[in-house]
Amino acid sequence: MPEKNLPELITLKRLIDEGGKHLEVGTSCTVAMDGRQFPVYTIALGNPSPDVPALGFFGGIHGLERIGTQVVLSFMESLLARLRWDSTLHQQLESMRLVFMPLVNPGGMWQATRCNPQGVDLMRNAPLSAVEKVPFMLGGQTFSHHLPWYRGVQGAPMEPEAEAVCEVVTRELLPRQFSMALDCHSGFGLRDRIWFPHAHTATPIPHLADIGALEQLFSQSYPNHNYVFEPQSRQYRTHGDLWDYLYLNAGKVFLPLTLEMGSWLWVKKNPRQIFDRIAIFNPTARHRLQRVLRRHLILFDFLMRAANSHGRWLPEGMARTIQHRRALTQWYHT
Ligand SMILES: [Zn+2]
Repeated sequence: MPEKNLPELITLKRLIDEGGKHLEVGTSCTVAMDGRQFPVYTIALGNPSPDVPALGFFGGIHGLERIGTQVVLSFMESLLARLRWDSTLHQQLESMRLVFMPLVNPGGMWQATRCNPQGVDLMRNAPLSAVEKVPFMLGGQTFSHHLPWYRGVQGAPMEPEAEAVCEVVTRELLPRQFSMALDCHSGFGLRDRIWFPHAHTATPIPHLADIGALEQLFSQSYPNHNYVFEPQSRQYRTHGDLWDYLYLNAGKVFLPLTLEMGSWLWVKKNPRQIFDRIAIFNPTARHRLQRVLRRHLILFDFLMRAANSHGRWLPEGMARTIQHRRALTQWYHT
Protein backbone atom coordinates (compact mmCIF):
# COMPACT_ATOMS: atom_id res chain seq x y z
CA MET A 1 0.00 0.00 0.00
CA PRO A 2 1.80 3.16 -1.15
CA GLU A 3 0.09 5.37 1.43
CA LYS A 4 0.99 3.36 4.53
CA ASN A 5 2.72 6.42 6.01
CA LEU A 6 -0.23 8.54 5.06
CA PRO A 7 -3.26 7.05 6.84
CA GLU A 8 -5.12 10.33 6.27
CA LEU A 9 -5.14 9.63 2.52
CA ILE A 10 -6.46 6.11 3.12
CA THR A 11 -9.25 7.53 5.29
CA LEU A 12 -10.06 10.17 2.68
CA LYS A 13 -10.33 7.52 -0.06
CA ARG A 14 -12.61 5.44 2.17
CA LEU A 15 -14.85 8.46 2.84
CA ILE A 16 -14.99 9.20 -0.90
CA ASP A 17 -16.12 5.60 -1.52
CA GLU A 18 -18.70 5.77 1.26
CA GLY A 19 -20.06 9.14 0.12
CA GLY A 20 -20.82 7.64 -3.30
CA LYS A 21 -23.44 9.51 -5.28
CA HIS A 22 -23.67 12.41 -2.80
CA LEU A 23 -20.14 13.59 -3.59
CA GLU A 24 -18.52 15.27 -6.59
CA VAL A 25 -14.89 14.26 -6.47
CA GLY A 26 -12.04 15.81 -8.44
CA THR A 27 -8.26 15.55 -8.40
CA SER A 28 -6.99 19.12 -8.36
CA CYS A 29 -3.35 18.12 -8.85
CA THR A 30 -1.05 15.17 -8.34
CA VAL A 31 2.14 15.34 -6.31
CA ALA A 32 5.10 13.09 -7.16
CA MET A 33 7.17 11.96 -4.20
CA ASP A 34 9.62 9.06 -3.72
CA GLY A 35 8.37 7.46 -6.95
CA ARG A 36 4.76 7.70 -5.78
CA GLN A 37 1.88 9.84 -6.99
CA PHE A 38 -0.34 11.46 -4.40
CA PRO A 39 -3.67 12.97 -5.49
CA VAL A 40 -4.88 16.26 -4.01
CA TYR A 41 -8.61 15.63 -3.83
CA THR A 42 -11.40 18.19 -3.91
CA ILE A 43 -14.81 16.97 -2.75
CA ALA A 44 -18.00 18.95 -3.18
CA LEU A 45 -21.56 18.29 -2.12
CA GLY A 46 -24.80 20.16 -1.88
CA ASN A 47 -26.39 22.54 -4.34
CA PRO A 48 -24.00 23.44 -7.22
CA SER A 49 -25.98 26.55 -8.22
CA PRO A 50 -23.92 29.78 -8.03
CA ASP A 51 -26.99 31.41 -6.40
CA VAL A 52 -26.50 29.64 -3.07
CA PRO A 53 -23.81 30.36 -0.44
CA ALA A 54 -20.79 28.11 -0.05
CA LEU A 55 -18.39 27.02 2.65
CA GLY A 56 -15.00 25.41 2.09
CA PHE A 57 -12.91 23.35 4.52
CA PHE A 58 -9.17 23.04 3.96
CA GLY A 59 -6.50 21.09 5.84
CA GLY A 60 -2.97 19.74 5.57
CA ILE A 61 -1.45 22.80 3.90
CA HIS A 62 1.47 22.30 6.30
CA GLY A 63 2.58 18.67 6.20
CA LEU A 64 3.53 18.53 9.88
CA GLU A 65 0.11 19.62 11.07
CA ARG A 66 -1.69 16.32 10.54
CA ILE A 67 -4.38 17.20 13.07
CA GLY A 68 -5.69 19.87 10.64
CA THR A 69 -6.42 17.17 8.06
CA GLN A 70 -7.79 14.86 10.72
CA VAL A 71 -10.37 17.33 12.05
CA VAL A 72 -11.66 17.98 8.51
CA LEU A 73 -11.86 14.22 7.83
CA SER A 74 -13.67 13.67 11.09
CA PHE A 75 -16.25 16.31 10.18
CA MET A 76 -16.68 14.73 6.73
CA GLU A 77 -17.18 11.34 8.35
CA SER A 78 -19.87 12.76 10.60
CA LEU A 79 -21.63 14.48 7.68
CA LEU A 80 -21.58 11.34 5.55
CA ALA A 81 -23.08 9.28 8.37
CA ARG A 82 -25.80 11.91 8.89
CA LEU A 83 -26.61 11.95 5.18
CA ARG A 84 -28.08 8.48 5.68
CA TRP A 85 -30.76 9.64 8.14
CA ASP A 86 -30.79 13.39 8.82
CA SER A 87 -33.38 15.19 6.72
CA THR A 88 -32.43 18.59 8.19
CA LEU A 89 -28.93 18.09 6.77
CA HIS A 90 -30.42 17.30 3.35
CA GLN A 91 -32.50 20.50 3.60
CA GLN A 92 -29.37 22.48 4.47
CA LEU A 93 -27.54 21.07 1.47
CA GLU A 94 -30.37 22.04 -0.86
CA SER A 95 -29.61 25.68 -0.14
CA MET A 96 -25.81 25.64 0.10
CA ARG A 97 -22.61 24.21 -1.30
CA LEU A 98 -19.87 22.49 0.73
CA VAL A 99 -16.34 22.03 -0.55
CA PHE A 100 -13.53 20.04 1.06
CA MET A 101 -9.78 19.93 0.42
CA PRO A 102 -8.69 17.98 3.50
CA LEU A 103 -5.15 17.16 2.38
CA VAL A 104 -3.61 19.97 0.33
CA ASN A 105 0.03 18.94 0.85
CA PRO A 106 0.21 15.12 0.80
CA GLY A 107 3.90 15.17 -0.21
CA GLY A 108 4.78 17.24 2.84
CA MET A 109 2.71 15.01 5.11
CA TRP A 110 4.34 11.92 3.61
CA GLN A 111 7.85 13.23 4.27
CA ALA A 112 6.86 14.90 7.59
CA THR A 113 7.76 18.45 6.66
CA ARG A 114 5.86 21.70 6.92
CA CYS A 115 6.76 22.53 3.29
CA ASN A 116 5.83 20.71 0.08
CA PRO A 117 8.34 18.36 -1.65
CA GLN A 118 9.96 21.38 -3.35
CA GLY A 119 10.72 22.92 0.03
CA VAL A 120 8.12 25.68 -0.37
CA ASP A 121 5.88 26.80 2.49
CA LEU A 122 2.51 26.88 0.69
CA MET A 123 1.17 29.52 3.09
CA ARG A 124 4.00 31.88 2.03
CA ASN A 125 3.72 31.12 -1.68
CA ALA A 126 1.11 33.60 -2.98
CA PRO A 127 2.35 36.52 -5.11
CA LEU A 128 1.76 39.05 -2.34
CA SER A 129 4.24 40.79 -0.09
CA ALA A 130 3.72 42.20 3.36
CA VAL A 131 3.35 45.95 3.56
CA GLU A 132 4.94 46.30 6.96
CA LYS A 133 7.92 44.59 8.55
CA VAL A 134 7.54 40.83 9.05
CA PRO A 135 9.32 38.63 11.61
CA PHE A 136 12.74 37.48 10.36
CA MET A 137 12.40 34.08 8.56
CA LEU A 138 8.94 33.17 9.97
CA GLY A 139 7.31 35.91 7.91
CA GLY A 140 8.49 34.18 4.73
CA GLN A 141 12.00 34.06 3.25
CA THR A 142 13.54 33.83 -0.21
CA PHE A 143 17.04 32.69 0.82
CA SER A 144 16.79 28.92 0.47
CA HIS A 145 14.41 25.98 0.18
CA HIS A 146 16.60 24.25 2.79
CA LEU A 147 15.26 26.64 5.40
CA PRO A 148 11.69 26.85 6.74
CA TRP A 149 9.12 29.41 5.58
CA TYR A 150 10.58 29.47 2.04
CA ARG A 151 8.37 31.51 -0.31
CA GLY A 152 9.53 29.87 -3.56
CA VAL A 153 11.34 31.48 -6.49
CA GLN A 154 10.14 35.05 -6.79
CA GLY A 155 8.19 35.69 -9.99
CA ALA A 156 7.73 31.95 -10.65
CA PRO A 157 4.19 30.47 -10.79
CA MET A 158 2.74 29.26 -7.50
CA GLU A 159 3.37 25.66 -6.47
CA PRO A 160 0.80 23.18 -7.88
CA GLU A 161 -0.77 22.62 -4.43
CA ALA A 162 -1.18 26.38 -3.80
CA GLU A 163 -2.46 26.84 -7.34
CA ALA A 164 -4.98 24.04 -6.71
CA VAL A 165 -6.35 25.82 -3.61
CA CYS A 166 -6.66 29.07 -5.58
CA GLU A 167 -8.38 27.31 -8.48
CA VAL A 168 -10.93 25.59 -6.22
CA VAL A 169 -11.67 28.78 -4.26
CA THR A 170 -11.95 30.81 -7.47
CA ARG A 171 -14.28 28.27 -9.08
CA GLU A 172 -16.42 27.16 -6.13
CA LEU A 173 -16.45 30.03 -3.61
CA LEU A 174 -15.67 33.45 -5.09
CA PRO A 175 -18.45 33.62 -7.73
CA ARG A 176 -21.13 33.46 -5.00
CA GLN A 177 -22.75 36.37 -3.18
CA PHE A 178 -21.52 34.87 0.08
CA SER A 179 -18.85 32.33 0.87
CA MET A 180 -16.55 31.37 3.71
CA ALA A 181 -13.54 29.12 4.15
CA LEU A 182 -11.97 27.47 7.17
CA ASP A 183 -8.35 26.38 6.84
CA CYS A 184 -7.26 24.09 9.70
CA HIS A 185 -3.75 24.31 11.15
CA SER A 186 -2.01 23.66 14.44
CA GLY A 187 0.65 25.84 15.99
CA PHE A 188 2.18 26.97 19.21
CA GLY A 189 0.06 28.47 21.93
CA LEU A 190 -2.35 27.49 24.66
CA ARG A 191 -5.56 28.60 23.00
CA ASP A 192 -7.38 27.64 19.82
CA ARG A 193 -7.39 30.71 17.61
CA ILE A 194 -9.57 31.72 14.69
CA TRP A 195 -7.73 34.13 12.46
CA PHE A 196 -9.14 36.35 9.78
CA PRO A 197 -7.22 38.47 7.24
CA HIS A 198 -5.09 40.38 6.87
CA ALA A 199 -1.83 38.54 7.36
CA HIS A 200 0.22 40.87 5.17
CA THR A 201 -0.72 44.15 6.85
CA ALA A 202 -2.15 45.44 10.12
CA THR A 203 -4.73 47.44 8.14
CA PRO A 204 -8.28 46.15 8.84
CA ILE A 205 -10.12 44.35 6.03
CA PRO A 206 -13.07 46.07 4.32
CA HIS A 207 -15.36 43.26 5.63
CA LEU A 208 -14.45 43.81 9.27
CA ALA A 209 -18.12 44.46 10.10
CA ASP A 210 -19.08 41.06 8.67
CA ILE A 211 -16.37 39.28 10.64
CA GLY A 212 -17.43 41.17 13.77
CA ALA A 213 -21.06 40.13 13.24
CA LEU A 214 -20.01 36.50 12.69
CA GLU A 215 -17.93 36.48 15.87
CA GLN A 216 -20.76 38.02 17.86
CA LEU A 217 -23.20 35.49 16.43
CA PHE A 218 -20.95 32.61 17.49
CA SER A 219 -20.24 34.03 20.94
CA GLN A 220 -23.93 34.63 21.61
CA SER A 221 -25.00 31.23 20.28
CA TYR A 222 -22.18 29.33 22.06
CA PRO A 223 -21.29 31.51 25.05
CA ASN A 224 -18.93 28.93 26.56
CA HIS A 225 -16.70 28.55 23.53
CA ASN A 226 -13.00 29.00 24.11
CA TYR A 227 -11.72 30.35 20.79
CA VAL A 228 -9.82 33.59 20.39
CA PHE A 229 -11.02 35.44 17.29
CA GLU A 230 -8.48 37.92 15.97
CA PRO A 231 -6.86 39.27 12.82
CA GLN A 232 -3.80 37.19 11.96
CA SER A 233 -1.73 40.39 11.81
CA ARG A 234 -2.15 40.68 15.57
CA GLN A 235 0.04 37.58 16.03
CA TYR A 236 2.55 38.13 13.23
CA ARG A 237 2.59 39.39 9.67
CA THR A 238 3.68 37.29 6.70
CA HIS A 239 4.48 37.47 3.01
CA GLY A 240 2.63 35.30 0.50
CA ASP A 241 -0.49 34.37 2.53
CA LEU A 242 -2.88 32.46 0.25
CA TRP A 243 -6.02 33.65 2.07
CA ASP A 244 -5.05 37.30 1.89
CA TYR A 245 -4.32 36.85 -1.80
CA LEU A 246 -7.71 35.19 -2.46
CA TYR A 247 -9.57 37.67 -0.27
CA LEU A 248 -8.07 40.58 -2.20
CA ASN A 249 -9.16 38.94 -5.47
CA ALA A 250 -12.75 38.37 -4.32
CA GLY A 251 -15.37 40.70 -5.77
CA LYS A 252 -18.15 39.55 -3.41
CA VAL A 253 -18.35 38.62 0.26
CA PHE A 254 -15.68 36.00 0.95
CA LEU A 255 -14.66 35.49 4.58
CA PRO A 256 -11.64 33.18 4.88
CA LEU A 257 -10.88 31.96 8.41
CA THR A 258 -7.92 29.99 9.73
CA LEU A 259 -8.27 27.67 12.68
CA GLU A 260 -4.94 27.58 14.51
CA MET A 261 -5.25 24.82 17.11
CA GLY A 262 -3.05 25.54 20.13
CA SER A 263 -0.68 22.60 20.49
CA TRP A 264 0.81 23.64 23.84
CA LEU A 265 -2.40 22.26 25.30
CA TRP A 266 -1.12 18.81 24.34
CA VAL A 267 2.58 19.41 24.89
CA LYS A 268 2.24 20.65 28.45
CA LYS A 269 0.53 17.38 29.40
CA ASN A 270 3.46 15.45 27.94
CA PRO A 271 6.54 17.69 27.81
CA ARG A 272 8.68 15.04 26.12
CA GLN A 273 6.70 15.83 22.95
CA ILE A 274 8.73 18.97 22.61
CA PHE A 275 11.60 16.87 21.21
CA ASP A 276 9.45 15.30 18.51
CA ARG A 277 8.57 17.52 15.57
CA ILE A 278 5.44 15.52 14.67
CA ALA A 279 4.20 15.30 18.24
CA ILE A 280 4.64 18.99 18.87
CA PHE A 281 1.99 19.84 16.31
CA ASN A 282 -0.34 16.92 16.99
CA PRO A 283 -1.99 15.35 20.01
CA THR A 284 -0.58 11.84 20.49
CA ALA A 285 -2.60 10.32 23.34
CA ARG A 286 -5.76 8.68 22.03
CA HIS A 287 -8.12 10.47 24.44
CA ARG A 288 -6.50 13.83 23.65
CA LEU A 289 -6.87 13.21 19.92
CA GLN A 290 -10.53 12.29 20.38
CA ARG A 291 -11.11 15.42 22.41
CA VAL A 292 -9.61 17.60 19.67
CA LEU A 293 -11.59 15.85 16.92
CA ARG A 294 -14.78 16.38 18.92
CA ARG A 295 -14.14 19.91 20.08
CA HIS A 296 -14.33 21.64 16.71
CA LEU A 297 -17.48 19.96 15.38
CA ILE A 298 -19.61 22.71 16.96
CA LEU A 299 -17.63 25.39 15.13
CA PHE A 300 -17.84 23.54 11.81
CA ASP A 301 -21.58 23.03 12.19
CA PHE A 302 -22.01 26.68 13.20
CA LEU A 303 -20.18 27.85 10.07
CA MET A 304 -22.49 25.76 7.89
CA ARG A 305 -25.53 27.31 9.51
CA ALA A 306 -24.05 30.81 9.38
CA ALA A 307 -23.23 30.49 5.67
CA ASN A 308 -26.70 29.14 4.96
CA SER A 309 -28.41 31.93 6.93
CA HIS A 310 -26.11 34.83 6.00
CA GLY A 311 -29.09 36.91 4.87
CA ARG A 312 -30.30 37.04 8.48
CA TRP A 313 -27.13 38.35 10.12
CA LEU A 314 -24.87 40.16 7.63
CA PRO A 315 -25.04 43.75 8.89
CA GLU A 316 -26.33 46.48 6.60
CA GLY A 317 -26.74 50.22 6.78
CA MET A 318 -26.36 51.71 10.24
CA ALA A 319 -25.86 48.26 11.83
CA ARG A 320 -22.85 47.84 9.58
CA THR A 321 -21.30 51.12 10.70
CA ILE A 322 -21.86 50.25 14.34
CA GLN A 323 -20.45 46.75 13.91
CA HIS A 324 -17.41 48.13 12.10
CA ARG A 325 -16.70 50.56 14.97
CA ARG A 326 -17.18 47.84 17.55
CA ALA A 327 -14.79 45.54 15.71
CA LEU A 328 -12.19 48.31 15.37
CA THR A 329 -12.30 48.85 19.13
CA GLN A 330 -12.16 45.14 19.87
CA TRP A 331 -9.28 44.22 17.57
CA TYR A 332 -7.46 47.37 16.57
CA HIS A 333 -7.85 49.51 19.67
CA THR A 334 -8.89 52.55 17.68
ZN1 LIG B 1 0.10 25.72 9.56
